[in-house]
Amino acid sequence: MRITKLTCEDCGLSHAGEFYTPRLYRLEREDQRFIELFVLASGSLKQMSAHLGVSYPTVRSRLDRLIERLEEEQRADESRKQKILEDIEAGHLSVNQGMRLIDAI
Ligand SMILES: [Zn+2]
Repeated sequence: MRITKLTCEDCGLSHAGEFYTPRLYRLEREDQRFIELFVLASGSLKQMSAHLGVSYPTVRSRLDRLIERLEEEQRADESRKQKILEDIEAGHLSVNQGMRLIDAI
């Protein structure tokens, strides 16, 4: 069983757990491939530049952009967690429900 949606009985505010997507899934397909290659190359940017046929600085700047994208997603998830904690505090979610939602992030 998976929680798909939790709704506050008092005010109708709801959290839809099923819409949560892992951070790596939210990246563009091309970026996901880049990460896959990065892992397979044991993090060697030199090896990646040879494999992709582009210069080392090009690989490096793609990695830097990817780092920024992931940090943005982390911040978005942190705000989501914060919102859940606020909703627990306001009584829209039980501590149990809130913790289950946070665990899924
Ligand atoms: Zn409520």
